[in-house]
Amino acid sequence: MPYSRELTKIVRAGSCIGCGACVALVKSGNASMTDTPRGPVPSLNGSITFHLNPVEFCPGKGIHYPDLYSKVFSGYPDNWLTGHIDTVHIGYAKDDKIRNNAASGGIISSTLIYLLQTAKIDAAIVVKQGLPVPEKARVILAHTAEEIMASSQSVYIPVSTLDILPKLEKGKRYAITCLPEQSAVLRKMKLAGYEPARQVKYILGPYTGTALYPNAIDHFLRTNRIKRTDQISSLKWRAGEWPGHLEIITDSGKVITSKKVYYNFLIPFFITRASLQNMDFCNEFADLSVGDAWSPDYEKQGKGFSVVVSRNPEMTGILAEMRKKGLIVLEENDAGAASEMHGHMIDFKKRGSYIRNRMRRIAGRKSPDFGYAPQNLHFSRILVELVIDFIFLLSGNRVSRFIMTLFPEKFLGPIFNGLRLKWKNISKPAKRKGLREYRVKISEPWQ
Ligand SMILES: Cc1cc2nc3c(=O)[nH]c(=O)nc-3n(C[C@H](O)[C@H](O)[C@H](O)COP(=O)(O)OP(=O)(O)OC[C@H]3O[C@@H](n4cnc5c(N)ncnc54)[C@H](O)[C@@H]3O)c2cc1C
Ligand code: SF4
Repeated sequence: MPYSRELTKIVRAGSCIGCGACVALVKSGNASMTDTPRGPVPSLNGSITFHLNPVEFCPGKGIHYPDLYSKVFSGYPDNWLTGHIDTVHIGYAKDDKIRNNAASGGIISSTLIYLLQTAKIDAAIVVKQGLPVPEKARVILAHTAEEIMASSQSVYIPVSTLDILPKLEKGKRYAITCLPEQSAVLRKMKLAGYEPARQVKYILGPYTGTALYPNAIDHFLRTNRIKRTDQISSLKWRAGEWPGHLEIITDSGKVITSKKVYYNFLIPFFITRASLQNMDFCNEFADLSVGDAWSPDYEKQGKGFSVVVSRNPEMTGILAEMRKKGLIVLEENDAGAASEMHGHMIDFKKRGSYIRNRMRRIAGRKSPDFGYAPQNLHFSRILVELVIDFIFLLSGNRVSRFIMTLFPEKFLGPIFNGLRLKWKNISKPAKRKGLREYRVKISEPWQ
């Protein structure tokens, strides 16, 4: 079957995560990423030839993680929840301008700036909210510290990043920020000798729990009674003091803000398929993985703290240089304590995504395979998953989304947050049971 037809099947099945890898691999022909209500998807028109078989690199089909582990890290990780770890710290940028402007501690932005200023890279590939219009986001090349800072913060809607690879200048070196599956594909492309991928010397990746379909923004505005004619003039997902709030300013000057824990009510209605199917929370194939350092102690202090995981000695050395020069603060931490902060989301990915993918396949639908399965899945965990999936199924359709807009956000936010915390408590025993002893069964590599 021609590659583009196989990719189209993956897109139609809803498994495409919009990474842009297949478009990057086009040798000749008409291909681009196109915006849809479900995020960017590839448009592959007419006869197309590829540098390499794009289906082998498609995370919508699945990437064999154990195989990639053995090639990138020369062995499997000691801990399958977090991936291979060289060092783990809690940290933040020393420069308050960077830290206050960032999603958590500003570690990703300050590392990119340091790589640029020490000429380790010629430019950074980052994602910027506000392009081509305020509610959308695009991957861009940042050549200055100011451009990197202007792209700080997390973008919680899907953005393709890897389709930029063919635009890299020959002979130049880059760092990229990308989500977990995109980091894994990029590693595969490097291993396969795809030259633009090899020009990317450093991968910096956020921990990634959930993202939202783009039309969540429109529905959020309806719950705030903003008229459709009043367009968005600016949008920030994590404005203000950490953990930050969603801030939307409209052309008429209205400023709508919602605490992060409140606008989470959009998740059951708009959670992306990629968030539900991916088994990698900690960005296991990034050189540097960074998440929020959730703990009551840090949250009380505000300002912004990150969990900072270096996955190889070179990145550890770069962090040590930055620390020595007073650019970042890093406090020692152990991997166990760091993953405990994210136990709920790690379970959502490492066991939840596996169960969800399996259930889809049993129902005769396509879903990606990551080459491993959790051992000893107990019945209570499967039961919890059935409840979660039932809620997503019930919420993720047009009627439920419309009903949601009938209620004001001021009411939905706190109610949802209360229910979320209750559910977290109820499901905690099942979700944490056996998590520390997480072991996997590995299937034969298929690629
Ligand atoms: C969709 C998504 C879900 C997340 N879920 C969680 C979670 O559940 N738990 C948790 O602890 N942390 C999560 N994070 C990570 C967290 O929000 C911060 O990104 C992380 O702590 C890094 O903070 P920082 O201050 O060092 O980053 P900053 O210094 O603010 O830099 C962030 C960098 O990431 C880039 N970036 C932002 N969004 C994207 C994107 N969509 N694709 C590629 N690059 C991007 C920006 O261009 C910027 O360079 C998520 C991030 C994203 C994008
Ligand atoms: S997941 Fe990536 S490689 Fe696969 S079809 Fe979508 S954009 Fe292409």
